[in-house]
Amino acid sequence: MDPLDSAATPDPSYGRLAPVIERSPLPMVEVQGPGHIIRTVNPAFCALLGRAEHDLLGRPFEGIVSGGRKCIEVLDRVYETGEGDTHAEPDGAHPTSAYWLFAMWPALNEQAEPERVVIQMSRASELRPDLVALNEALLVGGLRQHELREAAEKANIELQAEIAARARAEQALQAAHEQLQGNAAKLEQKVAERTAQLVASMADLEAFAYSLAHDLRAPVRAIHGFTGLVLEMPPDQVAPAAAEHLQRVVTAAIRMDSLIQDVLALTRVIRQPAIPARVDVGEMVCALVRERPELAPSRAEIHIEEPLLPVAANGALLSQCLTNLLGNAVKFVAPGASPRIRVRTEAFGRDAAAPGWVRIWIEDEGIGIPPEAHERIFEIFQRLHSSNKYEGSGIGLAIVRKAVERMGGRVGVESALGKGSRFWLELPAA
Ligand code: ADP
Repeated sequence: MDPLDSAATPDPSYGRLAPVIERSPLPMVEVQGPGHIIRTVNPAFCALLGRAEHDLLGRPFEGIVSGGRKCIEVLDRVYETGEGDTHAEPDGAHPTSAYWLFAMWPALNEQAEPERVVIQMSRASELRPDLVALNEALLVGGLRQHELREAAEKANIELQAEIAARARAEQALQAAHEQLQGNAAKLEQKVAERTAQLVASMADLEAFAYSLAHDLRAPVRAIHGFTGLVLEMPPDQVAPAAAEHLQRVVTAAIRMDSLIQDVLALTRVIRQPAIPARVDVGEMVCALVRERPELAPSRAEIHIEEPLLPVAANGALLSQCLTNLLGNAVKFVAPGASPRIRVRTEAFGRDAAAPGWVRIWIEDEGIGIPPEAHERIFEIFQRLHSSNKYEGSGIGLAIVRKAVERMGGRVGVESALGKGSRFWLELPAA
């Protein structure tokens, strides 16, 4: 039967400490009563004495140990006082060389009276190697502790060095960041200053170009006027060859005046504020057709696809754009062909955020433009033909692009040689 299960049928010879004693690696024995009857022994105790358990249980303790009565006196004292004690006694079998060591403590009953005594027994000779081993263990433990402390101190120093290095790196980073911010601020200020200087010199240049172009018109007109007067003189006063030369002077003066007017128009487009307002495109196109001789029904067939949608634009700038585009549409036709033009509008959305846009189309059936020139013709002084074939300055489309951009729009063309041209302007819907 398992001693731990004995609660149901208590065995008086089996004490409370029996399970502890049985499991202990040290030699232990439990005795009971004034006769010191052995009640429990453990394997280590049996091994120490070289005897079997059944040979020991139930016998008095004093018959077991070869030694004097002193051990039993200490045992009795433990019973009487209820306090543990230790005792060393020469081994009766080897009195000169060996000692028994006893450690005793009482097992108390519920009234706190000693009921049994537990004895731990060992030979003094066997303690010595244990002490040496203990000393060694203590020494090794001390060394290990020392090593550990040293390692911990080293790790601590390294950690502190790392923390200091990190702090230095952070400081350097902060300094670099501040310097960068300072440089960026300085750079921004410099850019702002330069931009202001540039804007100022651009304005000066534009003002200069405008006054130059404006002032040039007077002498050109004078040349034109006086040459015209000479040509009106009686034929006998002007030699035919001179008249021919003078006629060329008149033609050149007229071309120069038209060039100056185009330059003035361009500088006006650049200088003029582009405040937008609602523009009735249909009305504007009709007015242009009425006012411009080159667009008159006798010279060109212009079909307006009603209704033309209104746009948000600057009236003067848009009028300039339409004049130039319609002018080109009637001009660039094959010799002898009469111009046929269509003007229409369509609404569209560039994207979901800005859906309200209008595209104005000016479509002709003229000579057309090769695809590789579609971009280039919007640059200033870019012409695809000589002045002898088609008159012009090469400024008209540059004016259109500048004006449309100033109104927040875009311009483009779809065309192919001999297939007519479809110019378009994109502007916000009104
Ligand atoms: P200009 O009309 O004074 O020559 P523009 O800047 O208005 O200058 O036009 C640049 C060039 O683009 C023109 O010389 C012409 O070669 C070409 N171009 C413009 N509009 C048309 C058109 N409707 N059809 C064919 N070619 C055109």
